[in-house]
Amino acid sequence: MPWHPDAIKRPITADKGRSPLGAHNRVNLHVAVSEAASLFGFFNVSGQVDSHFYVRRDGTFEQYVNTDDNAFADLEGNDATISIETQGGVTNPNTEPWTPAQAERLAQLYAWCAVQHRIQVKLATSSALGEPSRGLSWHRLGIDGDFPALPSILAGREQRGGGMYYSRSRGKLCPGDTKIGQIPAIFARAQAIIPTLPAPAPMPNVLEDDMIVILNKSNNAAIIVSGGRSAPVVGWDQYVNLTQTLPSLGVSAAQFAAITTAFPSGA
Ligand SMILES: [Zn+2]
Repeated sequence: MPWHPDAIKRPITADKGRSPLGAHNRVNLHVAVSEAASLFGFFNVSGQVDSHFYVRRDGTFEQYVNTDDNAFADLEGNDATISIETQGGVTNPNTEPWTPAQAERLAQLYAWCAVQHRIQVKLATSSALGEPSRGLSWHRLGIDGDFPALPSILAGREQRGGGMYYSRSRGKLCPGDTKIGQIPAIFARAQAIIPTLPAPAPMPNVLEDDMIVILNKSNNAAIIVSGGRSAPVVGWDQYVNLTQTLPSLGVSAAQFAAITTAFPSGA
């Protein structure tokens, strides 16, 4: 269910060369520096950045991109990030808080993404590849600037020892000091929500005959092939877990496309 059932669904149709997310490693929080009720018109232009979600001040929200696919809000993190933009940040970007309705919606959305895509339930600590950048994250973790030093939560990319660039715009405030300060409480709220959510559809049972995991080397997408059937592998962690017990074969993007055509997903 990669379209959220409660979202105002406005799929971006402009061709941007979107790809499937090879892994779902983090949810990144942003502020749009806009009071617009919708970013759809701004986003639905080829070459323009975009995000998966946009949360208005009243907590209602739009979804522009299927969370199976990449959006373009996080530069070097785009291949493994679900991005959430939020209304606000125009007049006092560093001191304006998210409204209570926005904070609740952000907790709900992160919880949904964590369950749906098996994203780790933890706060990211930097934008470094691997564990530190997984979980609930925010734009400043991948932005350089004259931000406070650790252990302040307001520290940016440089102060945290480097990592992926989520933006090259030095000093960009996104999402701003006061909003960053709200993130631990948003995370705590998400932890309470997660156990109440239904589990995603289980993997089809393909244990009765030989199975192999086939990995697309170009983007880390993977499928399990079992006899005449296949099933999608949802994320990098699951792929790693499966390859500890199953044989694994890395193939080119063209070979992967041919295999997924021959063995339609979940068929
Ligand atoms: Zn941002």
